[in-house]
Amino acid sequence: MKQEVIIGREGNQPFPITQEGVSRKHALLTIDDNQNWWIENLTTVNGNGLYIRDEQGDFHPIEAQRITEDSVLRLGPTGYMSCTFMAHRAIAPQGDYSYEFRHLRRRIRGLRQEMENLNENNQKRSKLANKIRLVSYAISVGIVVVGAISGASLMAMSPMIFPGLIGVLSNTLWGPKTQEARDLQQKITKFQVCPNCGRPISQHDVENLRCSACKAK
Ligand SMILES: [Zn+2]
Repeated sequence: MKQEVIIGREGNQPFPITQEGVSRKHALLTIDDNQNWWIENLTTVNGNGLYIRDEQGDFHPIEAQRITEDSVLRLGPTGYMSCTFMAHRAIAPQGDYSYEFRHLRRRIRGLRQEMENLNENNQKRSKLANKIRLVSYAISVGIVVVGAISGASLMAMSPMIFPGLIGVLSNTLWGPKTQEARDLQQKITKFQVCPNCGRPISQHDVENLRCSACKAK
């Protein structure tokens, strides 16, 4: 059976919304017979509308869009004036966040695994870059030494500059991808928040499917 849920401060969603940035009738959620989920913005105020979280953890405004049960939506502007929730909340028993916590644990475990792989890879790259640097400098020094022994001019020794340059650039070219690691850490920080109160939560809480701050679970 097709389900329609009006979400807002005076909506018929199964959880209360009191945030002032949310309209009385803010969005319309539709779940059709085939379990397709749709959301539609019912507000007209600019910058106060309906937002969806992307895979990077950033929110984007939408008007009407097909979503999934796992889509994270935000009603209203950012901050305490707004209400952020996973679409599943519209059909969940009130106060039961187990679905969201399980989803969160899956995602955080995945991101941490990605981080582990990246760190491992970066260690390998770091070793490789060091080797390349040592070899390049050794070749440079070798050119100078051989040149000096054979009484060559400085001009004749100038090719030393090429391996030397490779040595200087080795870390940039073959070294660890530190920016990638930073971006990934930022992403983990963005996602590792309580599905109820929105505050950052500990790894321990994620694993135990609960929030120590607001007691949601
Ligand atoms: Zn919480």
